[in-house]
Amino acid sequence: MKKSISIIVLLLAFTGHIFTQETNSSRLIEKTDYKYKINDVHCHYVDFVQHTEGIDVLLKKMDSASVENIVLFGLSVTKLWTDYDRQRPVYYDDNDAPAYYYAYTDVILAEAIKKLPKEQKDRLYPMICGFNPVDRNGLDHIKRMVGMYPDLWVGIGEVFFRHDDLTRMIYGRNPTANCASMDPVYEYAAEKNLPIWIHSDIGDPISNKPTFLYEMEDAIKNHPKTKMVWCHIGDTRGVDVVGLSEITIRLLNAYPNLYYDISWVVFEQIIAPEGKPDPEWLAIFEQFPNRFMVGTDKIGGFSDYVQTIRKYDVLFDALSPETAKKLASENMFELLPKRSKNAN
Ligand SMILES: [Zn+2]
Repeated sequence: MKKSISIIVLLLAFTGHIFTQETNSSRLIEKTDYKYKINDVHCHYVDFVQHTEGIDVLLKKMDSASVENIVLFGLSVTKLWTDYDRQRPVYYDDNDAPAYYYAYTDVILAEAIKKLPKEQKDRLYPMICGFNPVDRNGLDHIKRMVGMYPDLWVGIGEVFFRHDDLTRMIYGRNPTANCASMDPVYEYAAEKNLPIWIHSDIGDPISNKPTFLYEMEDAIKNHPKTKMVWCHIGDTRGVDVVGLSEITIRLLNAYPNLYYDISWVVFEQIIAPEGKPDPEWLAIFEQFPNRFMVGTDKIGGFSDYVQTIRKYDVLFDALSPETAKKLASENMFELLPKRSKNAN
């Protein structure tokens, strides 16, 4: 009996020790002072079935990661759960069922932000995305959102055009960055000084050539007053476009309205394969320090948020301190419109 009591005491002491360690280490994570504060310029509040872990979870994760501000989108399409699919698809690539435009995504985001205290609202920079880019009525939706939630939105996006397998899952005409129905959206964005975040694959996985570059270049060239952020540097899963760095330099020199975000697969595939920053891309960031930003591209779930945003530390450490600061946080505010006094 005595022996078993002492075992229990020992066990309690041991678990107590573990508990203290865990408590200390989680405190440690929250208190860690990172060298660079980050603004995350690419995060989706919901996933492909419009679910989310919630705004409070996201804000806590931002605190843990020393992320001060965030650009937040809904998700413009939602995945169909057909009557013949037993398993519910959550990610667009879970099966080959179609996806459809879901305008309410903007309302979900706006309502979540509306409930927050001002100091938290001020950290969130929401954008409108819930419209069909190949529908000439798209601008009506954007104006409706601006009317319903005045002084809330700071931009438009992430607009999905060519997006690997998702392109063929969306009903109707393939969305392309240069489609005529987007012209009024681009013009409105310029008039209201709303930058627009665009997903448009530069190439296809079969040829690894920049097959779709002209679509995006048409849009950038034909709307010089519209600030466009080409998400993921046009890169996509499983595509390794030959000459991407040269194309990027040419476009940055030619079009001052073009910006890029580093998010999703581009970091691992191109910028820092196996965690080692590529010297060619480091030179590009140094040459154009005002034109790149970083983001997580999380979709509704934030469990690995801290790791996803803090993976960029290796990149910042490899850059000059001035360029690192610009990519990490400053460029976002150079690009976004100043918030009106009525905001929130
Ligand atoms: Zn995204």
